[in-house]
Amino acid sequence: MKRLFLANPRGFCAGVDRAIHIVEGALVKFGRPIYVRHEIVHNQFVVDRLRNLGAIFVEKIDDVPEYATVIFSAHGVAENVYHAAADRHLHVLDATCPLVKKVHSSAKRHFSKGRNLILIGHSGHAEVEGTVGQLPLGAITVVRSVEDVHKLQVADENALAYITQTTLSVAETRLIIDALHERFPSIVGPERGDLCYATGNRQAAVSELCAQVDLLLVVGASNSSNSSRLRELGEEKGIPSRLIASVRDLRLEWFEGVDSVGLSSGASAPEVLVQEVVVWIKNHFEGVDVVDWVTMKEQIKFQLPPELQN
Ligand code: SF4
Repeated sequence: MKRLFLANPRGFCAGVDRAIHIVEGALVKFGRPIYVRHEIVHNQFVVDRLRNLGAIFVEKIDDVPEYATVIFSAHGVAENVYHAAADRHLHVLDATCPLVKKVHSSAKRHFSKGRNLILIGHSGHAEVEGTVGQLPLGAITVVRSVEDVHKLQVADENALAYITQTTLSVAETRLIIDALHERFPSIVGPERGDLCYATGNRQAAVSELCAQVDLLLVVGASNSSNSSRLRELGEEKGIPSRLIASVRDLRLEWFEGVDSVGLSSGASAPEVLVQEVVVWIKNHFEGVDVVDWVTMKEQIKFQLPPELQN
């Protein structure tokens, strides 16, 4: 093993950074415990650290005591979750990423114009559940492949719009959008979907990196959509690719016959986990050259809710 390429940009995005700061800020300002509905971001290391600081993670609003403070995760929540929180007189801090909120607004706007919605995304993912829950039951149909588009049954193909999950594969989303336009020529929606800047930038960085490496490592959780897409992208480029939660998942045999390794991390994976992998590789492969592979600089930051701003 001679070279280790570090994808840049990688790791935390502005939405994840904001969500974590909201939990930390709430713990300081309102004291413990602070309830968080769902994992604030899909990363066990982050969740465990915040739990140690006093956050209590729950899946249902009914599990939050009345009048307590609750934070909604970066993935967003359905409308009925806001109502359930109001019924329990909860103090809500909304850590939904502003870019997910934007998708919610698009869904409502299209619906108000009488359009039925197609959501390109993965059923069961927290973000998709939150987006589907912005509108009445049945108003949004989820598709995740070109085959799903071929099977779609719609009430009025002249009153259709599409939106997307923010963390999908750029290439696959392109194919699905093309299939939608081909089948429903009057459908409306964003040209490249609603994929966020962080998803696009991390995939672009990994895509370039794949031309340099024999093995791709992605630090991220298996339930993290954007991390999984990075690993899949490596495989699509013909590079053996591994998604690892932490340095403990590494196996020496993966490096047999490998000259160059690419390392990236999903938008919810902390940099400390990446650096532990770097140290492990340096310890096992003396003299390895570590290259910072910068494809672009990110400068996006999102503001905290007003009550947490100093
Ligand atoms: S991955 Fe994109 S949409 Fe999701 S929290 Fe980060 S910036 Fe927001």
